[in-house]
Amino acid sequence: MMLKGKVALVTGSTSGIGLGIATSLARHGAHLMLNGFGDAQGAQAAVQAVAPAGTRVLYHGADMSKPEQIEDLIHSAQRAFDHVDILVNNAGIQHVAPIEDFPVDRWDAVIAINLNSAFHTTRLALPAMRSRNWGRIINIASAHGLVASANKSAYVAAKHGLVGMTKSVALETATTGVTVNAICPGWVLTPLVQKQVDARAAAEGLSLDDAKKALLAEKQPSLQFTTPEQLGELAVFLCSEAANNLRGAAINVDGGWVAQ
Ligand code: NAD
Repeated sequence: MMLKGKVALVTGSTSGIGLGIATSLARHGAHLMLNGFGDAQGAQAAVQAVAPAGTRVLYHGADMSKPEQIEDLIHSAQRAFDHVDILVNNAGIQHVAPIEDFPVDRWDAVIAINLNSAFHTTRLALPAMRSRNWGRIINIASAHGLVASANKSAYVAAKHGLVGMTKSVALETATTGVTVNAICPGWVLTPLVQKQVDARAAAEGLSLDDAKKALLAEKQPSLQFTTPEQLGELAVFLCSEAANNLRGAAINVDGGWVAQ
C-alpha cells in the first residue's frame, strides 16, 4: 500500500507494458487513469481486480497523437482526482522500414505518439506536481533510446529524443520533489513485438518459436524476454522514497542488450 492515495496516469495502458505498470501501481494502492486503444473495459477490470478496496480505476480514450485530446486527458484526470502524482509516458508504436521507403505518415505518427505526446503530458501535468512538491514522471523509452538498429529510424529517433527530454526535465526539476527518469526495456513479448516475430517468421520461413529465439539471440544476451510485471515493479520502486534522488537516469532492463 506504499502508493495509497497517489494518483497515476499511464498512457497506452490497455495492453502490454502499460497494462503491466498500471497493474503494479494499482496493486500498491494508487488510483489509476488508464488510456489506450482496444479492450479498455478488459484492462479496467484487470487493474481494478488487483487494486485494494476504495481504489478508483478510470479510463480516457485520448489519441496520444492529438495534442488537444492529450489536453483533455490531463484535465479529465485532474478533474476526477484533483491532480496527477505519477505520470507514466508509455504509449508507443513501431514501424520497420529502410529510411528511403519509410512512409511519411508513419514517421509522423511514430514521433507524435512516442515522443511528442510525452512533451504534452509533461508540460500539462508538471505544474500541479511542482505545487505539491511531489511527483514522478517515468518515460518508457527503450534500448533503442540508447543504441540503434537498422530500419527503425523513426523509433530510434523518438526514443533517443525521449531519453534526452528525460534528462532535460530532470535538471529543470532537480531541486524539487519531482523526479524524472526513463526505463529502457529490451525485448518484451507484447503485441508490438509479436508483430515483429510474425514478420520474421514469415520472411525467414521460421516457426513462431524459432522466430522468437532468433530475435532474442540477435540482441538480448539473457535470451529471455523482460516481462511487463518486472517493469511494473521497477516503476513502483521509482515511486518509492528510496528513489528520491534517482534523477535523469535511463535504466536499461534489457538482458544485457546495451552492455555489448
Ligand atoms: P503494445 O502495443 O502492447 O501497447 C501499446 C499501447 O499504446 C496500447 O495500449 C495501445 O493502445 C497504445 N497506443 C498506441 N497508439 C496510441 C495512440 N495513438 N493513442 C493512445 N494510445 C495508443 O506495446 P508495448 O510493447 O507494451 O509498448 C509500450 C511502450 O513500451 C512503447 O512506448 C514501446 O515503444 C515501449 N517498448 C516496448 C518494448 C517491447 O519489447 N515490447 C521494448 C522497449 C520499449
